[in-house]
Amino acid sequence: MDEVKEPKKPLMTFWIIAMALLFLLNLVALPIAKSSQIQETDYGTFMKMTEEKKIDKVEIESNKILFTLKDDSNQKLQTVYETGLMDDAGLVERLYGAGAQFSSEIIEQQSPLLSFLLYWILPIVIFTVLGNIMRKKMLKNMTGDDSMTFGGGFGGLGMGKSNAKVYVKSSDGIKFSDVAGEEEAKENLQEIVTYLKNPTKYQEIGAKMPKGVLLVGPPGTGKTMLAKAVAGEADVPFFSMSGSEFVEMFVGMGAAKVRDLFKQAKEKAPCIVFIDEIDAIGGKRSSGGNYGGNDEREQTLNQLLTEMDGFEGNNGVIILAATNRPESLDAALTRPGRFDRRVPVELPDLKGREDILKVHAKKIKIADDIDFNKIARMAAGASGAELANIVNEAALRAVRDGRSFANESDMEESIEVVIAGYQKKNAILSDKEKLVVSYHEIGHALVAAMQDGTAPVQKITIIPRTSGALGYTMQVDKGNHYLVSKEELTSEIATLCGGRAAEEVEFNSISTGASNDIEKATKLARQMITQYGMSSDFGMVALETVNNQYLGGDASLACSPDTQTKIDQQVVRLVEQQHQKAVKILTENKRKMDELAQYLYEKETITGDEFMEILNRKPQLEDKSKAGAAAESESAPE
Ligand code: ADP
Ligand code: ZN
Repeated sequence: MDEVKEPKKPLMTFWIIAMALLFLLNLVALPIAKSSQIQETDYGTFMKMTEEKKIDKVEIESNKILFTLKDDSNQKLQTVYETGLMDDAGLVERLYGAGAQFSSEIIEQQSPLLSFLLYWILPIVIFTVLGNIMRKKMLKNMTGDDSMTFGGGFGGLGMGKSNAKVYVKSSDGIKFSDVAGEEEAKENLQEIVTYLKNPTKYQEIGAKMPKGVLLVGPPGTGKTMLAKAVAGEADVPFFSMSGSEFVEMFVGMGAAKVRDLFKQAKEKAPCIVFIDEIDAIGGKRSSGGNYGGNDEREQTLNQLLTEMDGFEGNNGVIILAATNRPESLDAALTRPGRFDRRVPVELPDLKGREDILKVHAKKIKIADDIDFNKIARMAAGASGAELANIVNEAALRAVRDGRSFANESDMEESIEVVIAGYQKKNAILSDKEKLVVSYHEIGHALVAAMQDGTAPVQKITIIPRTSGALGYTMQVDKGNHYLVSKEELTSEIATLCGGRAAEEVEFNSISTGASNDIEKATKLARQMITQYGMSSDFGMVALETVNNQYLGGDASLACSPDTQTKIDQQVVRLVEQQHQKAVKILTENKRKMDELAQYLYEKETITGDEFMEILNRKPQLEDKSKAGAAAESESAPE
């Protein structure tokens, strides 16, 4: 896209003009001052020269005598000699006798008026004019807001002007087709494109577009690309600014930038305003002042909220914002009428990774026998940016080896470079980890499927999530239900235990991956006992009261320490029972578990239908597997 650069920093212009003027000044003034050079001599020499009739011109002033010599009168730069005035009565006669010419202007005196003008008035005029130009520039920069007085002091420093880049629509703009994978996100954003192309259609029917859309996902998954693609698809201008750019050193500057950004945007509507890293300004407020930076951030955030509330839903400005920390956003930002729509931009799955690799491989020269599926498989958990990096790294390797194209082994090698580089970030899973996670997730799904009263499995994935989960199993209830039976709750606890149980059954070892499950299972077991009256020991006694339904539902105990100990014991017993149940289910269905885990390991994401299809496939095998579970399964992976 061609980017229209904002005008050069005024400071720069200022100095260039000042230097040029100084140069001119020297050019004009110096020749006048330096037209002659003066040399001091003693009176004796002067008298000697007079006797030798060397004096050409002479000028006797009140306190000195100036003279020139005949010899160097043809020199370009005439030397003027100067000597002190002595009490010498016959001097004039002698000079006259020596043939000297009496002169009154040996040194061409500058007129005092001229030098006054040159050295005093001219600089003042120059700097006044420059100052005026600067002030006008600055006023323009200050977005015409009259309430802003702080800006005056920074005259000409170019502050307060938002650095929003304006991407003028151009044919080589990024389109949805440039963003590989991310189909769901694209589908979500398509509506906005349609709206931007034809806002009147929406206005006629009275439909309001969301003002703000939040793109949520891990770094490098293509959020910025998607935002640009929306602008590219709709063929509208794209304003972009990063949240951290708003937070300036001086209080009030961030707010001024927000104001300016929106002013520009409204002039260019319909258009897209993209705010990257919105958490930098939109983080939760009142978290205690740290080095006074909070005030500024809060002002900036308030200004953003004001701007968003300020424009009517249909003026054609759509704000897209990206963050990888949605949980840290201030609630005010996510309220209806602001960023009320959320588009998840997750790490790509196998297919997505393959597509991204191919998109980027088009930009370099490659061998034509590269198995991208294999490369994508090896780079499990990599983000789009990392995949782009892998391809580039491969090209660099090829150059280093003196080849004219990158081949498959370049790709493989560069994955290692990138993985080693990124391992600390825990983004890319090793094969072993992937297998453990596969078994873990299948464990959940299988335990759920083998019990009555559990919600059907909708989707199982081992693609790491923003939340830090390495995979998840999604169960979706058919229809709503508001009452949950004791059996359903215990089944749910068993399902939660299923992940850990699968690791135990398959690998005979356990990992840290189940911490979230454990927490949930414990909480559920505790609620059954203390809130739902589902324990025979306590019966229908409320042992806990829920404090805040909307903020996490924290509960506080309302019982004696003695009872608390008993509750803890019961919780442990309840969870342990369900854990045993899960282990039993998985041991009995080990064969199926292996098959499913292998399948998930390869596919990374499987649907509930695929899961059920494999589960129900060849039911006669099911019986055999029960019998053969004791014997070591030969289909065990690795
Ligand atoms: P984010 O804004 O989510 O951090 P970016 O949009 O800046 O990520 O993406 C960084 C780079 O990664 C892009 O310039 C692009 O080269 C590459 N990339 C990320 N996701 C994709 C994708 N889905 N398709 C193609 N390239 C991608
Ligand atoms: Zn789990």
